[in-house]
Amino acid sequence: MIIATTIAQVREQVSKWKAQGLTIGLVPTMGYLHEGHASLVNKAVSQCDRVVVSDFVNPTQFAPGEDLEAYPRDFEHDCALLRQHGADMVFYPSVEEMYEPDAATYVEILSDMPKMLCGKTRPIHFRGVCTVVAKLFNIVTPDRAYFGQKDAQQLAIIRKMVRDMSYGIEIVGCPIVREPDGLAKSSRNTYLNSEERQAALVLHKALLLGQKMIREGEHDAAKVISAMTESIEKEPLARIDYVSAVDGVTILPVDELQNGVLVAMAVYIGKTRLIDNFTVGE
Ligand code: AMP
Repeated sequence: MIIATTIAQVREQVSKWKAQGLTIGLVPTMGYLHEGHASLVNKAVSQCDRVVVSDFVNPTQFAPGEDLEAYPRDFEHDCALLRQHGADMVFYPSVEEMYEPDAATYVEILSDMPKMLCGKTRPIHFRGVCTVVAKLFNIVTPDRAYFGQKDAQQLAIIRKMVRDMSYGIEIVGCPIVREPDGLAKSSRNTYLNSEERQAALVLHKALLLGQKMIREGEHDAAKVISAMTESIEKEPLARIDYVSAVDGVTILPVDELQNGVLVAMAVYIGKTRLIDNFTVGE
C-alpha cells in the first residue's frame, strides 16, 4: 500500500492508474479506523480497480471548543487495517498540505439542508465537510466515492454538492456497522468510560422502538419521535441534542413517516456526542 503525504504524490500515482484505464474509488475518513470504515473500503475494493483512502482530521469542520485536538489518532493501526482490507493508497496529508495559510475559499450549500439536525449545534460543520470533500475530489478525481449512512445528513449533503457542482462522481452510501450490542461503531466511542458505554445503548434502543412502532402501523412522526425521546430521557447520563424525522434527500422536517424518511438523533452521553439513525422502509 502506498502512503502518500502530498497532493503531488497522489496526482502522479492516480494519473498513472488512469493511463492504464483503471477505475478509482475514494474513501474519505478522519482515521482511527474501525470496522465501519473497513466496510466502506471493502465495498470500494469490490467495485473499483484502485482504492484511495484519505486519513485526515479536517480542522475546518470543527468549531472552536469542539474535539479537534482530542480527536483520536493512530496512523500505524489505520495502515494495518487498510492493508488488510486491500486499499491501494492512503492519503495522509498534514493540515499545511491541505490548506494554504491564507485559504479563503469554501464550498457551502446555502439552502436550509446543512442547518437542520447536526447543523443546528454545529453551524460551520457541513461547510468544512463540503470544502474538504470537494478538495479530495479534485485531488483524487475518483470514479466513485464511499460514505457511511451513519452520517446520513453528511451523505445527503455530499450527494447534493455532487449534483449542484456537476462532479461526475458516483456517490455510494454504505450501511451502518454496529457493535454486537447495537451501538453504532464510531471513532468517538473511545471517549466513553464503561458506565457511559453501557448508557450509550439508549440510542440503538430508541431506534428499535421507533422501528417497532412504524412496523406496527404508527406513521405519525410526532408520536414516534416523542416515544423515542421519552425512552432516551430515562437514561440519566443521556442528554438529547435532537431526535427528528426528516426527508432522507432534502433533510427537511416531515410529519408522516413514509418510506425514505430519515429518523435521526444526536445524543450526548456524558460529554460525548453520538449520532445514529434509520431510514423508514430500509
Ligand atoms: P469519519 O472517519 O468518522 O469521518 O468517517 C468516515 C466515513 O466512514 C464516513 O463516510 C462515515 O459515515 C463512515 N462511517 C463511520 N462510522 C461508520 C459506521 N459505524 N458504519 C458505516 N460507516 C461508518
